[in-house]
Amino acid sequence: MLPEIENLLHLQDADKEIRRLQEEVAELPKRVAVIEHKLAATKLKLERAQAAVKADEASRRKYETTITDLRGKISKYRDQSLAVKTNEQYKALLQEIQFAEKEIAENEDKILELMVNADARDKEVKAAQSDLKAEAAEIEKQKEQARQRTAEDEKQLVEWRAKRDTMRAGVSEDLLRHYERVSKFRGSGISEVRDHKCMACQVMLRPQTYNDVRTGQQMVVCDSCQRVLYFNPANEMQALEPEHKRSRRHHPKIDAHQAWYYRAEFGDAGEVFLCLNEVRGQSSRRVFDMSTGRLLGDILIREGDFRQAFPEEITGSIRLNGNWSEAEMETWGTEMPMTALDSLHSDLEAARYEMTARPSAKTEVPSNVPTGQAAS
Ligand SMILES: [Zn+2]
Repeated sequence: MLPEIENLLHLQDADKEIRRLQEEVAELPKRVAVIEHKLAATKLKLERAQAAVKADEASRRKYETTITDLRGKISKYRDQSLAVKTNEQYKALLQEIQFAEKEIAENEDKILELMVNADARDKEVKAAQSDLKAEAAEIEKQKEQARQRTAEDEKQLVEWRAKRDTMRAGVSEDLLRHYERVSKFRGSGISEVRDHKCMACQVMLRPQTYNDVRTGQQMVVCDSCQRVLYFNPANEMQALEPEHKRSRRHHPKIDAHQAWYYRAEFGDAGEVFLCLNEVRGQSSRRVFDMSTGRLLGDILIREGDFRQAFPEEITGSIRLNGNWSEAEMETWGTEMPMTALDSLHSDLEAARYEMTARPSAKTEVPSNVPTGQAAS
């Protein structure tokens, strides 16, 4: 790869990080604004609840005044009734008194209703007050976090901008101009070539263009998207691996009651497949010749789960995928069917490939850890 192209790759990383940081800095006040909006809504709720309490108090005072007035009227009517001359006049006054008394009772009912409501109103106010307090505290916390995040981002931005300037110095002006023009329109200015394709726009390259990128002796741009192209041999190797090998191998379950293993050596027999099968607290061991699938020796039975019963068979073996019921294996007689043998062979191949590709994948070691806790 041309050193200039390598610088361009680093420059793209720096550009991406700068963009990410700038977006984050811009995003933080928006987050604060959302909570501030919520806070304003809660404030309004509190104000409304408080206004309702005030309105109720005013109503109550009005009803009380009305009652006082009505009582005054009644006592006036009583005084007048002492001085009346006719029965009709007396009756009329009595009626007025009855009306006033009815009105007093109505006003008293309204006051009672307000008193009952007052409890609910009070709760509303208190709830809004406590919400407001919690939200105010939350907003302070968020603001502080945003302040800190922004300060940290700004610091990183300074560092990344310095890095970017260094990278830019390592790229020719023409290339830089081209890279920036494409970046502006497409979001990125450089793209990897893999499997004869530009990975950014997914268009196949012409054979000559592909060869030019592979040799890495000159600057090549994608005919379709204009991005500067580069080639990473490590990634191409992976892309050329057959599909079934790249896809993840299905892994045997850790708590299964049946386990298949491959052993490179088994006494005089050489390479074998082993089947450990646990049924109702008893474990059996079958040994099959790896190339013919013939059952070797007797079926061995021991007490306990297969890990406890046959630890010596597990150490240094490769665990394989395989699951056939005890009844089914009975029908095999002295030889496993070709389909079973083929399936074990292909899983062994996949397991071996996995071990070379991922050195951390190890053969299974025996363990007395109860199933279920084994993963911890
Ligand atoms: Zn392209």
